[in-house]
Amino acid sequence: MKSTAIPFLDLVAVNADLQVDLELAWKAIIGHGKFVGGPEVERFERQFAEFCGARCCIGVANGTDAIELALTALGIGRGDEVIVPTNTFVATAEAICATGARPRFVDVLPDTLLLDPAAAADAVNRRTAAVIGVHLFGQMVDVPAVSAVAERYKLAFIEDAAQAHGARHSGRRAGSIGHVAAFSFYPGKNLGALGDGGAVMTDDVQLADRVRRLANHGRAEGDRHRHELLGRNSRLDSIQAAALALKLPRLDAENSRRRELMDRYRAWLPPSFEPVRTDPAAEHVHHLAVVRTAVREQARTALTAAGVGWGVHYPVPCHRQPAFAEYGGRLPVAEQAAEQILSLPMSPTLRDTDIARVCETLRGARP
Ligand SMILES: *Cc1c(COP(=O)(O)O)cnc(C)c1O
Repeated sequence: MKSTAIPFLDLVAVNADLQVDLELAWKAIIGHGKFVGGPEVERFERQFAEFCGARCCIGVANGTDAIELALTALGIGRGDEVIVPTNTFVATAEAICATGARPRFVDVLPDTLLLDPAAAADAVNRRTAAVIGVHLFGQMVDVPAVSAVAERYKLAFIEDAAQAHGARHSGRRAGSIGHVAAFSFYPGKNLGALGDGGAVMTDDVQLADRVRRLANHGRAEGDRHRHELLGRNSRLDSIQAAALALKLPRLDAENSRRRELMDRYRAWLPPSFEPVRTDPAAEHVHHLAVVRTAVREQARTALTAAGVGWGVHYPVPCHRQPAFAEYGGRLPVAEQAAEQILSLPMSPTLRDTDIARVCETLRGARP
């Protein structure tokens, strides 16, 4: 890599100053030998629930499982429909299908590219059991509007908070709003492990208990040989929990730094690049720095030539993916956005001068 290169996301830099603490934590785990379900898991679950302002947190194997387990614990499955924005990572829709339910893809709002609450209301029918609000790019959905749809039609409101650790809407954190929320700790997320990990968050103690049992072979509390539910294995391990516990106290400061970097982008981007809008009621945590542009092809060429990383989240909306062909249709807002969006480098380890260089490079992208 050229010394001048700016990677899309540098995970070595993100974790560099934690190396000594991580090694100490892992030494302790190797010493006590409780690799699955050790004290580190319980400690992190408590810390993260408190951070989000929710009662219960259950560590699971990854974010996709977290969504699936939340749906299953709510009793959602075959015969049910779940409303989901088409502009999301495919995992949200995969998790719905894994329960036996059908995803009902709906369009997004043209300015924030988040779930359109009116489209969600229009999609409700007698089979609809839940709506998943995906807090995409680091910004929470329009919480009052989505909650109102869920209440009006008696649907479960599930938050996909995989890109929104620490985000707020109207003062409340992601994970504390819906009936249940799902988080991913994939290494590249705002709160990332050093491997896969995920969590389910809820205020409902009984629902939490069901999730915990489903994720641990359906075991009964206190009797490991009694399997009351048809469960599976989806657990967060001690090593990942220890890493997450070390990283959680830094999350708010890192998210503030992401907001600062986004302000630099707003100030320095040439006019043909428009950042996706932030709702004034939302405290955005900019998991991704997404802009819209009519000159995406030229921009990608210029960035690549300059050694600057970029991404597109996501180039094909879920309802146009071959795997979901049977749920397809026309969702014009998301389809048009997919042609224009571009994700620029974003990480708390970037310097202002990096953002200046990305913006300078984009000045060279013309039709
Ligand atoms: C990352 C992600 C997931 C899935 O999380 P994994 O831990 O990778 O399974 C789900 N939804 C969204 C929006 C994501 O970004």
